[in-house]
Amino acid sequence: MTTIGSVTARVADPVEGPGRGALAPAVALPPRAERAERAEEAADRLRASAVEVVAVTWVDNAGITRVKAVPLGGLVHAAEWGVGAAPCFDVFLADDSITTSPIIGGPTGDLRLYPDLDRIVPLAAQPGWAWAPGDRHTQAGGPHPGCQRLFARRMEAAAAARGLSLKAGIEVEWVVALDGPPQEAPQYPTYGPAYGMHRLTDLSDYLRDVVRALGEQGLGVLQIHPEYAPGQFEVSVAPEGPVGAADTAVLVRHTIRAVSAKHGLRASFAPVVEPDGVGNGGHLHFSLWRDGRNLGHGGPGPHGLTAEAEGFVAGVLEALPELLVLGCSSPAGYLRLVPQRWAGAYRCWGLENREAALRLVTGSTGERAATANAEVKCFDASANPYLAVGAVLAAGLAGLEQCRSLPPEFTGDPAAAEPGTVPRLPQSPAEAIAAYERSAVLREALGDPLYQAVLAVRRAEAEQYAAVGPEELIAATRWRY
Ligand code: GLU
Ligand code: MG
Repeated sequence: MTTIGSVTARVADPVEGPGRGALAPAVALPPRAERAERAEEAADRLRASAVEVVAVTWVDNAGITRVKAVPLGGLVHAAEWGVGAAPCFDVFLADDSITTSPIIGGPTGDLRLYPDLDRIVPLAAQPGWAWAPGDRHTQAGGPHPGCQRLFARRMEAAAAARGLSLKAGIEVEWVVALDGPPQEAPQYPTYGPAYGMHRLTDLSDYLRDVVRALGEQGLGVLQIHPEYAPGQFEVSVAPEGPVGAADTAVLVRHTIRAVSAKHGLRASFAPVVEPDGVGNGGHLHFSLWRDGRNLGHGGPGPHGLTAEAEGFVAGVLEALPELLVLGCSSPAGYLRLVPQRWAGAYRCWGLENREAALRLVTGSTGERAATANAEVKCFDASANPYLAVGAVLAAGLAGLEQCRSLPPEFTGDPAAAEPGTVPRLPQSPAEAIAAYERSAVLREALGDPLYQAVLAVRRAEAEQYAAVGPEELIAATRWRY
């Protein structure tokens, strides 16, 4: 599996594609002097919060958040010149073995990771540390065509070029277990019932610390509750722009990890933690806006959708099989994506239907202009959130441009319907990969270097676990995400 060194990296400043054209400003670095000045201001603020080290993260194509950290005294240099990062991180697998792809891979080359100074924040549960998401550029200063966060930025800019913006939020579900050897079956700090107050009482201090830490980092916690599976909880935070929502998903997860460690616990965001159990979703909520108006409300379409919102949602529904490649990274995701677990295993949509891969949510009468949104339920937290939001934008915008309309709504449980009435989503990585290979929309939006790198990683992980039973797959992935 590990093929380090088989292909030489060929990542150069793009002549065409991501770095060029109308969307180039969205992915260009601001001038160096401006970056230095802003980094000095940020460093002063962080020093006042007793920060000593800054962690700069990116999320790889296997869905793993990777990091380079610099002492606070090095922040200005990092903002001016970036931090070194090997391009072959784009072809890492979740178990840290490395594959290769036609354009990106191999031991040669270097990229520069630039902290986003707009998002830098002291980490409430890691005293002395701050965190910033990073964008990756080439040594010559152009956008790295494999950078997932820059892809999300481009898609955000593509919407903005049409006068549209997306508000998004990723719900984070996790299972918390007592700390212990990773190879042993998890033991839980609570065995209280699903959604039970019992669980919240057992872990009262822990959950308060999670909420407190998220709040101190400026995140608007909307809700926290015990979920269905043993030891499972969920937190949701306020919606924001797509890149911001992806950053927030990274920050929320690592805050939960840090608070868990302080309490002698550890958190799993893996798609499945127990064989045959309900899994951890990473549902993506989105709403489409123009001129401050929610296009999911007050229109002539189903449940108040405007024509533009209907086209966008229909585009996402149409593309769900290939979107799974980006929204459900781990092969273990297909163990979660089964009927009657509220994971959205069916390719259909429905108002407040928790078994539909696309659940339409209007909210309560009176506040719908603010709350109407759609939820992609089939995604899980092994997804790279930047790829997930960027790909949903690409599929949605394609649907909007084609003026698509939604097929009839499905109400009730698709599993109880006449067999064959409602199609299932792909049931294996191979099926999703086949759909991805047919997707011109995703290929064009991602650009070939990123499209191919994602494909290589998915194929390699599919192959890695092809002959492995569910228990082994779950054990191999339980503590990776
Ligand atoms: N845990 C479920 C999943 O795997 C979702 C439960 C819910 O609807 O919140 O997606
Ligand atoms: Mg949930």
